[in-house]
Amino acid sequence: MKFKISASVEAIKPYEAGKPLKELEREYNITKAVKLASNENPLGFSPRVNEAVNAALSCMNRYPEPVPHGLRQLIADRFCVGVDTIVLGNGSDDIIALLAHGFLNPGDEAVMPLPSFLMYEISVKTAKGVPVMVPLKDYTTNLDEIVKSVGPRTKMVFVTNPFNPTGSTITRNQFVGFSKKIPRDVIIVVDEAYIEFVRDKTVFNSMDDPLKDPRIVTLRTFSKAYGLAGFRVGYGIMDPGVAEVLNRIRQPFNVNTMAQVAAEAAIQDEAFLNKSVQTINEGIDYLSSALTKMGLAPLSTQANFLMVDLKTDATKIFNELLGQGVIVRSLKSYGFDTFLRVNTGTQEENQNFIGALKQVLGKNKDRE
Ligand SMILES: *Cc1c(COP(=O)(O)O)cnc(C)c1O
Repeated sequence: MKFKISASVEAIKPYEAGKPLKELEREYNITKAVKLASNENPLGFSPRVNEAVNAALSCMNRYPEPVPHGLRQLIADRFCVGVDTIVLGNGSDDIIALLAHGFLNPGDEAVMPLPSFLMYEISVKTAKGVPVMVPLKDYTTNLDEIVKSVGPRTKMVFVTNPFNPTGSTITRNQFVGFSKKIPRDVIIVVDEAYIEFVRDKTVFNSMDDPLKDPRIVTLRTFSKAYGLAGFRVGYGIMDPGVAEVLNRIRQPFNVNTMAQVAAEAAIQDEAFLNKSVQTINEGIDYLSSALTKMGLAPLSTQANFLMVDLKTDATKIFNELLGQGVIVRSLKSYGFDTFLRVNTGTQEENQNFIGALKQVLGKNKDRE
């Protein structure tokens, strides 16, 4: 039986997730593979999460709290904002979809960088909206072109700061200039999935002055710096009027009990967060310098990953690295045919990656 698919959905390319460790270990029959492909936290998560999750097990026969008061309050307190400005999601992916479904009519436009985090495009198309893609300029968000691409049908714009996959950023001054040129009735989604890793003090952080501009919707996640990717918790901070719309259409139990208690424990362990950020940033410095010593030129980054030009088909190198038990990300599907993206692991994992890359690139050179 073949049903006719919705025309907007037909145009969607499926999201390509990083290759899971277990899959690689099965395929290559190895045991200690290294995954540096999905920007996860190599240190795991706070030990307090273990305790909280174990304690919550006995309640798993019950439905979760439909509005997770505890977690919302903790987030609200962290940023000194009202609880009615917080919307929780099954990852921030969920919030992106809610925004698209809540605010786009068929044919309405959402402007975003090209390439971008694929969930923006998928969500906009699923909501029957039209993504308008603005190519990067020198690997950074082209804010001027985004402004020029805003038209009468534009309902929202997406920016990502720091940017995935290049690691580039938007400064405070750049953002202020940009937001002045965006019409008053356009939502500005600022995805700050990697903001915890930023070291450059000039970078825009929407929570320095929360909710001053009612158009800004900030997206944050527990998946990266907090190490809770598998639990699936993200959130948005936004004008209460916008939050009310998203809460109206979200699934009532979109954040499950385990995810709620894990995030509550994680956000209260600031020491673990700080240690993670410090270790990860040291890892980035190690990777940058090791790659530079190899004669490569990694892009400068403010995130927990970096992008590097191998000047040769990146997918081929990606596949050969798999053979060495190392999973990174080939950026071919992002239009960067010769680039890899790699995130920091533990020091041992980082060294394994550098060793494997040397071997693979050396072999390729011999063959030339
Ligand atoms: C990882 C990531 C997210 C977060 O995804 P979750 O659904 O919260 O796991 C959001 N935006 C970008 C750009 C990301 O890279």
